[in-house]
Amino acid sequence: MSSLSIAVVGAGIGGLTAALALARRGHAVTLVERRTGFSEVGAGLQLSPNASRVLIRLGLGPALRRVATEPQRVVVRAIRSGKPIGQVALGPFMRERFEAPYWVVHRADLQTILLDAVRSEPAIRLVMGRNVEAVKDGPHQARLTWISVSGARETIEADMIIGADGVWSKVRQALGDGKPPAYRGYIAWRSTFERNAAPAELAGDETGLWLGPQGHVVHYPIAGGRLVNVVAIERSPIPVEGWAAPGNRDELLRLYASAAPALRMLLSRPQEWLRWSLFDHPAGRLAKGRIALLGDAAHPVLPFLAQGAALAIEEAATLASLLGQERQDVPQALSAYEKQRLARASRVQNEARRNGRIYHAGSLVGFGRNQVMRHLGPEGMTRRYDWLYGFRTPE
Ligand SMILES: Cc1cc2nc3c(=O)[nH]c(=O)nc-3n(C[C@H](O)[C@H](O)[C@H](O)COP(=O)(O)OP(=O)(O)OC[C@H]3O[C@@H](n4cnc5c(N)ncnc54)[C@H](O)[C@@H]3O)c2cc1C
Repeated sequence: MSSLSIAVVGAGIGGLTAALALARRGHAVTLVERRTGFSEVGAGLQLSPNASRVLIRLGLGPALRRVATEPQRVVVRAIRSGKPIGQVALGPFMRERFEAPYWVVHRADLQTILLDAVRSEPAIRLVMGRNVEAVKDGPHQARLTWISVSGARETIEADMIIGADGVWSKVRQALGDGKPPAYRGYIAWRSTFERNAAPAELAGDETGLWLGPQGHVVHYPIAGGRLVNVVAIERSPIPVEGWAAPGNRDELLRLYASAAPALRMLLSRPQEWLRWSLFDHPAGRLAKGRIALLGDAAHPVLPFLAQGAALAIEEAATLASLLGQERQDVPQALSAYEKQRLARASRVQNEARRNGRIYHAGSLVGFGRNQVMRHLGPEGMTRRYDWLYGFRTPE
């Protein structure tokens, strides 16, 4: 396929990766972002081998290695008693099995690395402070209209448009899906703190996962091991207002009043918390004509499998590969993209929801869950996810 003009809406992790991957295949990319500057929430991100493999292929391995940490294992514990339930092997076991690392990074570090790569790519034009308000398909070109911060409206044409505009995607609406994502009854509390303030027994090179009926907690070292990222889940029938609302530490400690002392100590460390209501939306159409969706715009997913950004990264690579092939027109390539991605995205969404139920199981189901973990052992737990972490996007 010869060089295309491609507009990507949204410069989150998915949009940045897509712009980069497409430019590397020789396409001219306009990357449109409504924010006027880049700031990432102070939080971490797990980059499993299916995603790290793509980023390494894009040449970002050396930069990522400098800021990423590679936990050796996930240690699963019971929230109340603090007793170990099981482990999942990460570190060398993952790297050897899937030929790519399981990294954890600070979101801001990943964003900076992607942004640096995007800015040094002459084929990418990054336009900030433009809110895309409409996209329209056409037989030969697709059109996109944005409003700038000064209120000026502008329409551009491109051979195709990719919606990477997140959970509340405008582009998804243009594909005929006007249904809003559904709140799933969970609020995620997120924060980071200096690792040397962590309780000694939780400060190791590992990911901690604490399970209980009232919620669960995940923590791991980020920023080259300098900080600890912590996410605590609250079950709540009502979402919080706004996108990232401030959370009060005492309220969180009340929610986890019956937790083991080490976990309570860990949760008491950060001074500031942000709360995110968790939504998802079943993957439906991923492409139509000359318009495609990727990442949260295509299929917002609960974070209980740590795969939202990973799917976006896989999709960026898949699109670049399909649009790099000879003798294929854009609608055909996008239809192939939808076929390749739909089943996998749906499976990840379902598994993430299922993890929510398993993590928060009551005593009977919880007992069965713990038995299975013990029976499988750390490497058996990792092998269960061969389908997920072993996935390779087309070259
Ligand atoms: C608590 C929590 C923990 C998580 N942990 C992990 C994890 O460990 N691993 C993992 O893989 N995933 C994780 N995720 C999921 C992951 O954060 C998201 O799936 C991922 O960031 C989505 O990226 P995206 O590029 O699709 O969308 P976004 O990051 O939402 O980016 C969308 C971009 O589009 C822009 N935009 C929106 N509308 C417009 C418009 N109209 N015009 C122009 N620009 C627009 C936005 O400003 C934004 O920059 C987690 C999520 C949560 C909530």
